[in-house]
Amino acid sequence: MSSSKDFTVAICGGGLCGLACAVALSRAGISVTVFEASSFSQESGAGVGLGRATSFIRASVLPNAVRALKGLGIFDAILARSDQPEPAPRLFGFVSAKDPHDFIFSYETRCEDPVALAIYRPAFLEALLSLLDPSIIHFQKRCTSVNVSETGKHVMYFTDDTIHEADLVIGADGVRSVTRRYVIGQVLKNPLAYPNTAAYRGLVPTEDLRRAGVQTNLTGRPICFLGSGKHMICFPIKGATVINIVVFVTDYDKPPQSELPYPWVESASQIELKDSCKDWGHDPMIILDHLKNPSKWSIHALDPPLRSYVRDNVVLVGDASHAMLPHLGAGVGQGFEDVFVLVQLLTHSKTQKFNLCDVLAQYDNVRPPRANGVLQASARVGRLYDSFRSSEQDEARLQQGLSGMWENVWGHDLYEDVAAAFESLHRLQVF
Ligand SMILES: Cc1cc2nc3c(=O)[nH]c(=O)nc-3n(C[C@H](O)[C@H](O)[C@H](O)COP(=O)(O)OP(=O)(O)OC[C@H]3O[C@@H](n4cnc5c(N)ncnc54)[C@H](O)[C@@H]3O)c2cc1C
Repeated sequence: MSSSKDFTVAICGGGLCGLACAVALSRAGISVTVFEASSFSQESGAGVGLGRATSFIRASVLPNAVRALKGLGIFDAILARSDQPEPAPRLFGFVSAKDPHDFIFSYETRCEDPVALAIYRPAFLEALLSLLDPSIIHFQKRCTSVNVSETGKHVMYFTDDTIHEADLVIGADGVRSVTRRYVIGQVLKNPLAYPNTAAYRGLVPTEDLRRAGVQTNLTGRPICFLGSGKHMICFPIKGATVINIVVFVTDYDKPPQSELPYPWVESASQIELKDSCKDWGHDPMIILDHLKNPSKWSIHALDPPLRSYVRDNVVLVGDASHAMLPHLGAGVGQGFEDVFVLVQLLTHSKTQKFNLCDVLAQYDNVRPPRANGVLQASARVGRLYDSFRSSEQDEARLQQGLSGMWENVWGHDLYEDVAAAFESLHRLQVF
């Protein structure tokens, strides 16, 4: 197919945001090539083994993300691969981790359409891959850096000593992005930080917990157990036959550190985990007893956030631009919002190679304030959960602090952002 545009696009990273972007741009007839560092694997169904532990994340896709995916025209394909028959509200209930596990409050929403979706990352990737011409994706291509070539294009360098040139590079290469290095420049320090937060994860059959005497209802809404410097999120999956458990433990006495050496995901000892939570009561302790082989994730986030997501014709989307703490479950949703806005701008009939910089400047006006706001709110929510010490004042503070928190994430009007960007482009006579 001949390209609908006079510019070529290369996407660095074939994760959720990179592939979503590739689907939408190639559907619009734009010439796109995707470079993904990991290898293609036969092991997982139709076949994306991204060879990394994040493959197993069951991401909650919040209402704003659902709207972005619908706007990109890819939601139905994703819903078809989810084990959730239809999007549903996923509102948390908060319970004290200490005995007798008082129900602190249930998050209610005034949001008109609070429907969300939960889906395993491999299923999500398979859904996106099924919408793409396989010839545009190159696996086992790890980009080492991006620069400008003599012809004025951007050039990507790979570990296998090959290069690729494109007019526009989209950096969708996740939390450890190399394209971010180009965007922030050589002078500024990479702001990726380790805030001393470990996430312990695992799955436990619901029936085992019931038999062992867990009283808290874990099969309805997601439950967050709160208790002094740590919290545990439990949500039902596979028709509520399994409970997905994530325990976040943060050492607030230490200042945030710079990026830790790899690996960031390791197997952890159950004893270490139980020891960190030894002041918790009956139900969470039973749950931890059943979490036999937890994995331990060293969570990283950008601190401070990037001021700009664009330099020249290199533009960042997803975790590359705003890797955040997962306390609002909003990371990938912000990535899909990026992709939605970028795709609207790039596919506009007046966008051409000569005005790409001006068009990307509008992306940069709209996205950093929004996504960085969610990034900062995610960190605030984590601190709020972890400061809960079971008093009535704490309950009131928590309710007040959380009030409207998700609505700010869910209710954002992306179409308004896009309209504002187009309006600026007209006003500046770019369009
Ligand atoms: C414990 C935990 C729980 C989370 N829970 C949620 C949740 O419930 N909801 C939610 O919305 N978000 C959640 N997130 C965040 C979510 O996983 C990320 O926001 C999302 O995966 C980001 O998508 P992405 O496409 O930007 O990056 P990624 O999914 O990380 O994809 C980046 C891709 O780029 C590839 N790549 C990397 N470097 C290179 C390179 N140099 N060259 C070529 N390819 C490269 C990688 O192999 C990868 O495939 C969670 C994160 C964690 C750690």
